[in-house]
Amino acid sequence: MNPTATPIRAATACKALLIILLTFPAASALANSAAHYFESVKQDPVKLRQFLQQFPKGGDLHNHLSGAIYAESYLAWAREDGKCIDLDTHIITPPPCGSAANLDEIMADASRTPMEPIIDALSIRNFARRSISGHDQFFATFDRFRSAAMGRFGDMVAEARRRAGRQNMVYLELMLSLGMLEVAQLAAHSGRLDRPFGQRINHAEVDTIVDAVVKQLDDIEIRQKQLLGCSSEAAVTPTGCDVTVRFQAQVLRTFAPVQVYAQTLLAVKLIQADPRVVGLNFVAPEDHRIALRDYRQHMRFVAELSAAFPSRPAGIALHAGELTMGLVPPEDLGWHIRDAVATAGATRIGHGIDIAYDDDMDGLLKTMAKQDVMVEINLTSNDVILGITGAAHPLPTYLEYGVPVTLSTDDEGVSRIDLTHEYQRAATTYNLGYSQLRGFARNSLQYSFLPGARLFDNPEKGQAVSACANQDLGSTDTSRMCAEFLAASPKATLQWELEKRLSAFEARF
Ligand SMILES: [Zn+2]
Repeated sequence: MNPTATPIRAATACKALLIILLTFPAASALANSAAHYFESVKQDPVKLRQFLQQFPKGGDLHNHLSGAIYAESYLAWAREDGKCIDLDTHIITPPPCGSAANLDEIMADASRTPMEPIIDALSIRNFARRSISGHDQFFATFDRFRSAAMGRFGDMVAEARRRAGRQNMVYLELMLSLGMLEVAQLAAHSGRLDRPFGQRINHAEVDTIVDAVVKQLDDIEIRQKQLLGCSSEAAVTPTGCDVTVRFQAQVLRTFAPVQVYAQTLLAVKLIQADPRVVGLNFVAPEDHRIALRDYRQHMRFVAELSAAFPSRPAGIALHAGELTMGLVPPEDLGWHIRDAVATAGATRIGHGIDIAYDDDMDGLLKTMAKQDVMVEINLTSNDVILGITGAAHPLPTYLEYGVPVTLSTDDEGVSRIDLTHEYQRAATTYNLGYSQLRGFARNSLQYSFLPGARLFDNPEKGQAVSACANQDLGSTDTSRMCAEFLAASPKATLQWELEKRLSAFEARF
């Protein structure tokens, strides 16, 4: 017998007991009939799916727009747009097709060219059957469908909104990289990091890119509203039209330092210029050699640029600690989360998987809880990309320390999931109670980058700030003070809408 087996098993058992103690619904929640019903169907995947699909989930704060789209949609749009596909590499390309296949021709006769392997190549579907890691398959998909996305951003937002609406969600914070390649190109030609601030990049040229992105956002808005059929005259609101959408500018972290700097500058300028852009994020594989090499420098870029503008960016969310033993050398583990919080001033961490490797995990977790730094948990993504599942995932540890968390999808199209799937996965894997899931839903708006004051002092307990204390949450009949508070805060207004939906949902049980 392995001599270390007994203590490990004992520790695991202790942790399991702790999770049960921590997650067992409080007495008041048990009395709640929705919580009761939830416990009764937790082991029934069919009834649990239905319950969680209808359960009001607030929003999805970690959702990359290009990864949110299902392969079937990309193929349909690329076909309509006359695009092509290389049948060996499965990369979609713009016309003329040359040696690549014309998508319209091959899709018109499915008997000759089966679409199944193409859909597999554009997602992680069936990847376990192939001789490729989840990590490599996952990230390879983006190059394959990149061309299909061009000219279709409005269609993509419409798809994400409609899917969210069907799942009783009210908010999406979508990440996208508009203008990032252009500004990176500008920086490659004329950027100089050794110059003083203001002279490193030509700010006037960056401002021209800002204007072009704002115009693109206008076009996206018009197109997606058209597709969804959102109009004030409609008798019944079409699915998705009541889902509020905001964007995060995503910086690609695998470029040269001056290019990452320029992208961060663009992100900050976009947040200043357009209220639809509410935050910034750093993306692309965190284990990429350049992302690892330049990580500390990137965090300093964020700190410097967010301090250099009159109103600090509304939101800094950073992918940090999406790493694990074996994927990178041990020296690269255990400090990205700390640096994102301490140097860059991130108020939201994406993934946070490698927390166990920090030199003082206990101290860091206490700091995160105290400073109210939230973690966006992406269970399926962590399983596929990192092979982290079950007890190896730090979600229970974050909960134990009172670090705020919410659930998100990361790339629901590539992973072929939706947010309901992630709630179901969390509930069954970690035996979570109804009040905890409701806390996740509330956190998704409480920690969103929407402007305005927050509704809750304590989201999990449903304890509202003093202006709305002692009010029935979600009620249409509120005190004048509460009504004024809500009117002044777009964030709290949406939070109130979530409470209205939660009350209606819970009243059904
Ligand atoms: Zn992500």
